[in-house]
Amino acid sequence: MQSLKEIYLTLNINKNEIQDSIIYEEKNLISIGKNALGKEIFLSKGCAQAWLKMKDDALKDSINISILSGFRSYKKQYSIIKNKLNRGMPLNKILHENKLPGLSYHHSGNAIDIISNSYKLSLEFEKSLAYLWLVKNAHKYGFYLQYPKDNKSGIMFEPWHWYFKE
Ligand SMILES: [Zn+2]
Repeated sequence: MQSLKEIYLTLNINKNEIQDSIIYEEKNLISIGKNALGKEIFLSKGCAQAWLKMKDDALKDSINISILSGFRSYKKQYSIIKNKLNRGMPLNKILHENKLPGLSYHHSGNAIDIISNSYKLSLEFEKSLAYLWLVKNAHKYGFYLQYPKDNKSGIMFEPWHWYFKE
């Protein structure tokens, strides 16, 4: 299982019917160390620098934020979807939570999933001081919420998912 074409064939999806544009899989990634679960996180250089500055400044305000997930390959995105399919979740439901391989902004190395006092992503994050801090400050570093409430993308509200724009 390598190419996007093969992945789409397996999922029985006609690539020509997809309206979103395919996101380039970033190759010039840098490591920002391991996440809370011990997995190494990679980001684009610009995103990594902005993140490290933001994390430092947040800490000065006594806000502790870290990244659970950064760059993700097409292959990894496929395995997330496949695991949900294997658990019996229908594809149309999965696609409210996960973009198809090739459509996730995580492929660009410019998307981060932020956690504060938890090891998993949860809607509870919206109620955290960390989230309030991000809403107020993240834009100063080039980070924006990609799936706000009532967004039109078909993806549910994700308070943890921020994208970097230089
Ligand atoms: Zn995300």
